[in-house]
Amino acid sequence: MNAETLKMNLLALVDTFETQEESLTQLDRAIGDGDHGVNMLRGFRALPDNLDDSSVSTILKSTGMTLMSHIGGASGPLYGFSFVKMAQVAGDEITPNNLSEVLQAFSDAIAQRGKVELNEKTMFDVIERARLAVDNGESITFEKLQTFADDTKEMIATKGRAAYFKEDSKGHVDPGAQSSVYVLNALIGDE
Ligand code: ADP
Ligand code: MG
Repeated sequence: MNAETLKMNLLALVDTFETQEESLTQLDRAIGDGDHGVNMLRGFRALPDNLDDSSVSTILKSTGMTLMSHIGGASGPLYGFSFVKMAQVAGDEITPNNLSEVLQAFSDAIAQRGKVELNEKTMFDVIERARLAVDNGESITFEKLQTFADDTKEMIATKGRAAYFKEDSKGHVDPGAQSSVYVLNALIGDE
């Protein structure tokens, strides 16, 4: 994926989050405070004015800085820091050759910032499983990413606001897991 396609995919997320705002908010209403849809939309709406499109690396870095300062909530620094970290390893293009490294940077950033592991019912479940799939030579489709998010439904949350719901967090897809399906699809879908 070159700079032009990456820019187009990331800017298309403004429309995606407009469409998905209500459903993400519903998910966050069930096991959080009901702001995840608004948060993601606020972050991506700020992107057109703040994107430095000179290269893949500057696109990722400026996206990270924008998300960090506009999303708010727990997810802002997590996504923001991840994009800044991916910028450091993506080089001139995201290709099948460096995809594994890019996803490792994404996953490591979330693990480090969120102090999170697999099966804690967060965005990390989708990001880390996408990384593992790529390492296994599998291609990443939207449908596959969606199954990773759907798998969070039966988990009990132990991180973030959802952890306050304990057993009651079961039966709902994690909002950040769902938003990371869209983010990952824009970054690496079918790459
Ligand atoms: P807030 O929880 O502050 O309202 P958001 O609603 O925007 O922020 O984001 C909630 C999402 O952030 C959760 O659904 C979860 O995926 C993710 N999240 C929260 N805490 C963590 C954490 N420690 N590690 C990984 N992801 C987390
Ligand atoms: Mg929230």
